[in-house]
Amino acid sequence: MSSNVSREEQMEQENQQLQALVREAKLKGSPSGEQRCDNCRYYVGEFKKLAYCNHPKLEILVGADWWCQWWEATEG
Ligand code: SF4
Repeated sequence: MSSNVSREEQMEQENQQLQALVREAKLKGSPSGEQRCDNCRYYVGEFKKLAYCNHPKLEILVGADWWCQWWEATEG
């Protein structure tokens, strides 16, 4: 049983780290004007509703119409 508890604790810790990251990024589930994840340079997987953000501080799954303060225009 002790291994279950430590796994729960580990998941709780990971969840708290994710929550802190979301707060730091000011990540939200809606766009900010014309700025959205799917027109951000860190967004991987255009044409999908859910994709991966490869911003070095985030590296999490994000929605196409989400936004965070580290948004940057795509190059070119
Ligand atoms: S850096 Fe922010 S705006 Fe850009 S894809 Fe990641 S979460 Fe979305």
